[in-house]
Amino acid sequence: MRDGAIRAIRERRAGYSLAEGVLALREAIAAKLRRDNGIEADPETGIVVTAGTTGAFAAVLTALLEPGDGVLMTEPYYGYHRNTAVVAGMTPQLLPIDAPRFELREDALRRSVTDATRLLVLCTPANPYGRMLRRDEIEAVARVARERDLLVVSDEIYEYFTYDGREHLSPASVADLRERTVTIMGLSKTFHITGWRVGYLVPPPEMAKPLTIVNDLLYVCAPTPLQHGVAAGFEALPEKAAALRREFQAKRDRLCEALDEAGLPPIVPEGSYYVLADVSQRGYPDARSAAMDVLERGGVASVPGSAFYDGDRGEGLLRFSFGVEDDILDEACGRIRKLPR
Ligand code: PLP
Repeated sequence: MRDGAIRAIRERRAGYSLAEGVLALREAIAAKLRRDNGIEADPETGIVVTAGTTGAFAAVLTALLEPGDGVLMTEPYYGYHRNTAVVAGMTPQLLPIDAPRFELREDALRRSVTDATRLLVLCTPANPYGRMLRRDEIEAVARVARERDLLVVSDEIYEYFTYDGREHLSPASVADLRERTVTIMGLSKTFHITGWRVGYLVPPPEMAKPLTIVNDLLYVCAPTPLQHGVAAGFEALPEKAAALRREFQAKRDRLCEALDEAGLPPIVPEGSYYVLADVSQRGYPDARSAAMDVLERGGVASVPGSAFYDGDRGEGLLRFSFGVEDDILDEACGRIRKLPR
């Protein structure tokens, strides 16, 4: 991918691309969607390359919703989902799901939809808690979304970070969700290129046009030479995906073991590369103090659980990331084990 991007820069393929992205990349994405996600999309008209998954989410809100619309998401949430909705003038609506299983229940989902709700945000595997949606949960989403005529956005940036033999399931491949779901994905995590800013969205076909126009208006296109580079990387994806599962499962296990030994019980994730650890027994007044203490006395950075909740339900949690190189992870695990009790 690096070579492909460098070649594109050397060959001066540096102008704006079409707003929907470089065609060779969209063709590679369409083949991958069919193979890995069970989603059929027309590379010419049904895929939009965006400035990361973040850009895809912003485009969905801006193109398909009106200010004041309700954007429903489970809590704990990924902060960008909540805060991007606020910036776009929408109202975040929260459906609390409970640790440690974080299951999505149909009755609770149905109750949390109001007349203002227009969009339901899914995230699987989830940041910050690492759960992967099961088929029965997605089928429940399909029923409620149909009843209440909701749009669904499904953030699947961690689709290749899945453990213990679990298979990622794309909501748009389940029941009739394809017709109301915009799937948003990206390369940032899979290829460790978070700064390249290349992602994509796969909407119901009739929504592609407004999304393309808004993508154009927001930032014209994703970086063109990097789109060319990324296109080459799709060939390596099956091999890369298998390596990621192996390597990151081992990283997950190492970090969870260290947290357990240090008396910070982890909620072992099914996917993604984050672990929530329970620090509630340690006597900290809140999650921020816990994170600062682990940083100052242990030299390990974490995110306070309060960053993922509106209320105080995250105050006993810290989120650790194992999306780092092995030597850094080993050092961090050693420091976590030595944390004073
Ligand atoms: N979605 C989720 C759930 C994430 O956790 C992140 C990054 O942490 C992103 C999207 C950002 O993705 P991108 O780099 O493709 O914008």
